[in-house]
Amino acid sequence: MIDQTVFNNKKAAYYTLGCKLNFAETSTIGKLLAEQGVRKVRPGEKADICVVNTCSVTELADKKCRQAIRRIGKQHPGAFIVVTGCYAQLKPEEVSHIEGVDLVLGAEQKLEILQYLENLEKKENGGAVIASPSKDIRSFSPSCSADDRTRHFLKVQDGCDYYCSYCTIPFARGRSRNGTIASMVEQAWEVARKGGKEIVLTGVNIGDFGKSTHETFIGLIRALDEVEGIIRYRISSIEPNLITDEAIDFVARSKRFAPHFHIPLQSGSDAVLKLMRRRYDTALFRHKIEKIKEIMPHAFIGVDVIVGTRGETDEYFEEARQFIDSLDLSQLHVFSYSERPGTQALKIDYVVDPKTKHVRSQQLLDISDRKLHAFYEAHIGQKANVLFEHTQKDGKMHGFTENYIKVEIPYDASLVNETRQVTLGDWNEDRTALTVNGQLPTINS
Ligand code: SF4
Repeated sequence: MIDQTVFNNKKAAYYTLGCKLNFAETSTIGKLLAEQGVRKVRPGEKADICVVNTCSVTELADKKCRQAIRRIGKQHPGAFIVVTGCYAQLKPEEVSHIEGVDLVLGAEQKLEILQYLENLEKKENGGAVIASPSKDIRSFSPSCSADDRTRHFLKVQDGCDYYCSYCTIPFARGRSRNGTIASMVEQAWEVARKGGKEIVLTGVNIGDFGKSTHETFIGLIRALDEVEGIIRYRISSIEPNLITDEAIDFVARSKRFAPHFHIPLQSGSDAVLKLMRRRYDTALFRHKIEKIKEIMPHAFIGVDVIVGTRGETDEYFEEARQFIDSLDLSQLHVFSYSERPGTQALKIDYVVDPKTKHVRSQQLLDISDRKLHAFYEAHIGQKANVLFEHTQKDGKMHGFTENYIKVEIPYDASLVNETRQVTLGDWNEDRTALTVNGQLPTINS
């Protein structure tokens, strides 16, 4: 039973670190508190409750969380501070002893926050910890972030059963699970009813969708494609072995799925992929990229790569670099390997020093810049549908094409959350986006 008097005239501040899934979940926590009458703080106001949704993907992420929690404590003196998210699940005791923390909630309790806010009295000797062991994380809490009027992040899946050797996410988020297709379709209709136009399907391992409901990922995207009002969907990161040829064919002829893929490769060396315990090899990865490009030559393909994992010798890295360079990709997201306690990767003897990691990272970033530049250049002069977003900076606004090219135009409030067909022009001043050739049409395309 929730004591609603606790929330009378209260204001809350929300902080999210890490991935889009966290953003979607923080948005849901915000909605739960808003239903109890808790208002979100305005800039400059002091909050009564602070919710910090943390990340633990690297050692640096943990450090950033600790810094953020201390900063928030100073910004909102006397506020009741609740910390949740992956760092809270993995190291609850450590988090509970960070200055100012009153309550630590594990992954299973994250979206049950209301029942744990019995009173908002500050704790003197460390925060209370309420967290289930990772093996007991079972529930799927639906979430959809609505912070941006244009783009919504719909959580379709949570957790992971893969246990890659370098990763702690399965320990932080538990086993793979998902909501039903019917519930996802209902949430998509809700987004459309509220005027949302773009949905990004989000999860930890979204290709695994359907495991807990005896459904399939292809079934999900087929059903979502029928939701009127949504102009486009993007599929966030999906494992190469789980993006089936059938799903690629479907995206190519779908009404609403954008030709935009984000596929984690992690290494372009088969030996390193084995050490990482990934479930594919470079031949499978190449096949997926070639398959996408064969039927959608204009598709944007973003690829994650980790450099400097244990076991990545100079020879293996060079093999990986050449493989990556040979692929028709649009952009690389390059991460430096970070040692995580409790992972199998720590048993591999060969360690890459920080300087070498940096050099390798720069080499891949150079490849990424070259490929992204070529992808953009190839589209100059072409027609494209752009959905414009609300952010305004230096008198400019941005939108994205279906295939994820960033487009910049002078700010025009009437274009926020609107689609226009444009002819793509040359680069903007700082070469981060393309401009538009000629006048924008006045009617929606
Ligand atoms: S697929 Fe691998 S890297 Fe991705 S969340 Fe699961 S264990 Fe981690």
